[in-house]
Amino acid sequence: QRQFMSPLKMSEAVLDAEPVTDDGEKYEFQAEVGRVMDIIINSLYSNRDVFLRELVSNAADACDKKRFLSITAASESDGTTASLAKPSIRIKSDKDAMTVTIEDSGVGMTKQELINNLGRIAQSGTKKFLEALGEGSADVNLIGQFGVGFYSAYLVADKVEVVTKSMQEDSKQYRWTSEAGSSYTISEDNSDPIEGSGTRLILHLKDDALEYLESSKLEELLQHYSEFVEFPISVWKEKT
Ligand code: ADP
Ligand code: MG
Repeated sequence: QRQFMSPLKMSEAVLDAEPVTDDGEKYEFQAEVGRVMDIIINSLYSNRDVFLRELVSNAADACDKKRFLSITAASESDGTTASLAKPSIRIKSDKDAMTVTIEDSGVGMTKQELINNLGRIAQSGTKKFLEALGEGSADVNLIGQFGVGFYSAYLVADKVEVVTKSMQEDSKQYRWTSEAGSSYTISEDNSDPIEGSGTRLILHLKDDALEYLESSKLEELLQHYSEFVEFPISVWKEKT
């Protein structure tokens, strides 16, 4: 029986994230996260289109990891590739709910990975990012380079939900929610089950970011920024 050895498993000893409340659902962001979020939101306002590139590149990374792990698993068993996953990325807007959803069928995240990956920033990455900024304002190119791409979601959204199911065996589906600020919540999620594994990122758009509800706008950005993503990306057209 093969086990995916997540790099996070090895660093569990250094984890200090503890639920803040008794129900075990509310967590505090690591302090650096708040700082980086503030910098991104304040400095990149006029470049907020980059959110889509950042989130699609995360989705593509997750698809890539899944493909890699699937190939490894297949070659270690009977060598058949028949069941190899064909990951993809789907983008959908909902004008009534004022949301944009980016869904991938990649590796997904365990609860511990949600805490590690979205609640904290790798110490070295944060330091480098903050150093690189110096006294100046953030440059678009610094984002992503230092692993802070996910938080660019808050350029266009005031609330972000991440529904995810890891490809590790027996994984449950979880929902991570945050309106930025200092905390986030994680709960088990049984609504709208993810088939296999993957991540569904739901952006609740700010009132001044409703232009991103238009599929034509999303497609334009994808052509501009995500031309070379190697997984199929589909944008759902609104009914007319
Ligand atoms: P980077 O992509 O440079 O690592 P990000 O801030 O963009 O930094 O993302 C932080 C981490 O969150 C990623 O490294 C990854 O582990 C996790 N992550 C983000 N989006 C996804 C996703 N769609 N599927 C799985 N993991 C994700
Ligand atoms: Mg990224």
